[in-house]
Amino acid sequence: MAIEQETSDYQKKKYIPKGLVASYMHRISEADPFVREIQDEPSALRLYMDTCTKCGVCAQECPVYYGQPDKRMHPVERSKQVIRLYKKYATRWGRFWSALIPTQDFEEDDPELFAERMYECLTCRRCASFCPVGIDHSVISRVGRSLVDLMGLTPPALAKGTENSMVKGNLEGASSEAMLDSIQFLEEELQEETGLEIPIPVDQDCAEVFFLPPSGDVLVYAENLMGMAKVFYAAGVNWTMSSRAFDGSNFGFTTGNNFSMKWENKHYIDETEKLGCKLMVMGECGHAYRVMKFMASEGRWWGELPFEITSVFEYTAQLIRDGKIQLDPSRNPDSVTYHDSCQFAAGCGIIHEPREILKAACADFIEMPDGGYTQWCCGGGGGLSALRSVREFRMHISGKKKVEQMRETRAKVVSTSCLQCRTQLKELARYHKIDVTITGVHELVNNAIVLEQDRRGSQTPTP
Ligand code: SF4
Ligand code: SF4
Repeated sequence: MAIEQETSDYQKKKYIPKGLVASYMHRISEADPFVREIQDEPSALRLYMDTCTKCGVCAQECPVYYGQPDKRMHPVERSKQVIRLYKKYATRWGRFWSALIPTQDFEEDDPELFAERMYECLTCRRCASFCPVGIDHSVISRVGRSLVDLMGLTPPALAKGTENSMVKGNLEGASSEAMLDSIQFLEEELQEETGLEIPIPVDQDCAEVFFLPPSGDVLVYAENLMGMAKVFYAAGVNWTMSSRAFDGSNFGFTTGNNFSMKWENKHYIDETEKLGCKLMVMGECGHAYRVMKFMASEGRWWGELPFEITSVFEYTAQLIRDGKIQLDPSRNPDSVTYHDSCQFAAGCGIIHEPREILKAACADFIEMPDGGYTQWCCGGGGGLSALRSVREFRMHISGKKKVEQMRETRAKVVSTSCLQCRTQLKELARYHKIDVTITGVHELVNNAIVLEQDRRGSQTPTP
């Protein structure tokens, strides 16, 4: 189906009035192509229904339950809210019994409470690493978020970001002109800092690499982008960004809005093809990378793609291994630890590469406890770090474990691989008065990379 037709169909179906969930869910059985997304996600729901032993291991390992160990925060209690709807509307027995004995759709008959509860899961997947039968509550919560979105109850900041991504192509709703202004400013900064003309090419046809950072790294925290500009410069890579597609994030994935998730993804793919690039390098956003690499590309949403896809971590780590860039760790002398973002670690298995980069870029690297696949979420995952409305929850409940870990590690710098984690960790550090600096990984590369005749002092030539 053409994207225009899909968009038109989607607009007609969007924002189902509250209280009409029942009739809406019944439409699933009428093979509605968009809503079927919910019904067609049965494996996690079925696995739960068939195998959950109620052993409670998931709760012991959940950062939210750790922060508030009560019934409301228990993963099983939350998932039951979604399972109940699934059983009621998507199984024959459920339909039969609910026709005979009508029951409420939601706890306390309150769809807003249901929405709140779906956003009390960080979708971090830690539970799935420990559950003896592999149940992943994040998948179930995301199905719940899809329902929340269909009812128009997605938290406004996330709904706005998703809409901006659909309409303007980036979360902030920024124009191409704003992006180009920002790039010009950053090029001037790079020249002032290094004395070198380090370009940040935009809309350049037939470049080898299309670089796609999250828009926050272009418009707000630019150190990561400056670091990548230096990496490409030092390695002699022909690269480009796009003024039409400069936001490698994906709020559709976060909010359970499957249409937006796919549309945002298609937007980047079209742009990479249009520019004729052979490799897409995605920046420090785990959601977008997971959707692009493991869902769109490997799931062949848009058929075979005419370019390769990699993350900025795999890309830079390979350049270091190949000796194509050199890093001077003495430029990052303070002790540095690494917080694994859930989506890159548990979602994409990218664990070693950020550490390789940090060990090359920093003089004193310290591991955070429980790092890797079984990392503890920063407490702002699943889009929560963008929500002021749940700040108390993030500071005291979902972020509790990460505060303890940051204190335990005693590192002066906590580096992380995701813009959302950076936002949450900065807030946690400020709120709890932890004397630590929060950075991106390529922000430290930005400090450490050795450039020919670099004004910053190193004389080591690049190979
Ligand atoms: S760990 Fe798995 S089996 Fe045990 S209660 Fe949690 S979801 Fe159920
Ligand atoms: S995905 Fe994370 S926050 Fe959600 S239930 Fe599992 S461990 Fe808890």
